Amino acid sequence: MQYVSTRGSAPALDFEGVTLAGLASDGGLYVPAEWPRFSEAEIRAMRGWPYWEVAVEVMRPFIGDSLTETELENICMDVYCGQFSHAAVAPLVQLDQQHWLLELFHGPTLAFKDVALQLLGRLFETFLERRDQRLTIVGATSGDTGSAAIHAVAGRKRTEIFMLHPKGRVSDVQRRQMTTVRAPNVHNLAIEGSFDDAQAHVKRMFNDADVTATLNLGAVNSINWARLMAQVVYYFTSALQLGAPDRKVAYSVPTGNFGDVFAGYVAAKMGLPIELLMVATNVNDILRRAIVDGDYSAGGVTPTITPSMDIQVSSNFERLLFDAGGRDGAAMAEQMRAFEATKAMRLTNAQRDGIKGQFVAFSANQIETARAMQWAYQGSGQIIDPHTAVGLSVARDAVSDDSINPLTPIITLATAHPAKFPDAVERAIGLRPALPARVGDLFGREESFVELAGDYDTTRDYVLEHAAGSKA
Ligand SMILES: *Cc1c(COP(=O)(O)O)cnc(C)c1O
Repeated sequence: MQYVSTRGSAPALDFEGVTLAGLASDGGLYVPAEWPRFSEAEIRAMRGWPYWEVAVEVMRPFIGDSLTETELENICMDVYCGQFSHAAVAPLVQLDQQHWLLELFHGPTLAFKDVALQLLGRLFETFLERRDQRLTIVGATSGDTGSAAIHAVAGRKRTEIFMLHPKGRVSDVQRRQMTTVRAPNVHNLAIEGSFDDAQAHVKRMFNDADVTATLNLGAVNSINWARLMAQVVYYFTSALQLGAPDRKVAYSVPTGNFGDVFAGYVAAKMGLPIELLMVATNVNDILRRAIVDGDYSAGGVTPTITPSMDIQVSSNFERLLFDAGGRDGAAMAEQMRAFEATKAMRLTNAQRDGIKGQFVAFSANQIETARAMQWAYQGSGQIIDPHTAVGLSVARDAVSDDSINPLTPIITLATAHPAKFPDAVERAIGLRPALPARVGDLFGREESFVELAGDYDTTRDYVLEHAAGSKA
């Protein structure tokens, strides 16, 4: 399988190449040159398979020759039979006649990002071993990505990770999930300033010749195609359980960077009968405005009780605009250049037509989010996290709006464990969710991180001084 850039001018790469590259050299994002497609009979044949076997089947066409069948099977078994605390990996829970939750938080850091990052950590090791190289991952996090990435690479031989977080601005649970991992290849940096400042340092490092001359830099954010590919799998396993391909299902997806919901679009492209994808945002609703009105314009970010969805620009949306708009890389490059200059753009008619019919979008404010937490708790005893609640609120909006056939099951992606956001849950339902036993001593473990001043040079010098993975 070859991958092409959404901006048309970077070289095509194979799966190994896009996994290690992250972003394309022309600033675009890699997408498969064509979508692999399963027949109904092939989908039906996967019913009842364990998660890891569906993962092998769904991911194989994307990986092509980059892994042997044995390598792929071993990696999937290692990740999906060992790293999740639920034997089904991503179990479905029924809320009422129409609504279901897909629990994606049974990994080591209690959010759905583990499902893909646990795989990515092993893909990195396999490819680096083969190339006899080392990789220095530099990233910034506002919470969930950092801990999932650290848990994916801690203790590995060929990768090291420098994770920047804005000092004092991530929750205690989120910080401790990063700083209590004690491994020589893990470096936690608490940076003065906001998440955007930390993110800006990371971007600058990727363009700093002093850094790139000595270090082979890697990225773990959701622009990495391998992450999206891993997320396609749970759309298959969940739809199969509810009767696919003989019965359609719909999904409501709490959305920030448009990665998780784009994986649903990919599943539909591969032949999975998905009736509708609901894009669920909080009040930071650039994606809702883009999908409903064609208006993609970034404003300021309003902090909410769903911090992992507090975004201004949604990187993976470019992949949808490229694919749904006719795959014109030159036009996409021009459109994104204009957007980067003005922070606003209109979707073309081709893009709007390509999106219409497959997606609807709604947002939920804090009151609606709390109400969804109450509804789940009172109706079925389920304690859900606020991100999941945004999804559930939107799923119920789509029903009252007649956007969806009343007989179609709606699966809301449960993206985090409620104990990750205990304050918001307690305010909504009056109960404080306990951390699961497997992370129960989180508050007893010793933390390790360095505090750095907010300027770029201090951060860069720290990374250069402490990195083991020199190219030489
Ligand atoms: C990252 C995250 C999201 C948003 O996912 P995207 O793929 O960026 O759209 C939603 N909920 C939680 C809990 C997250 O950690």
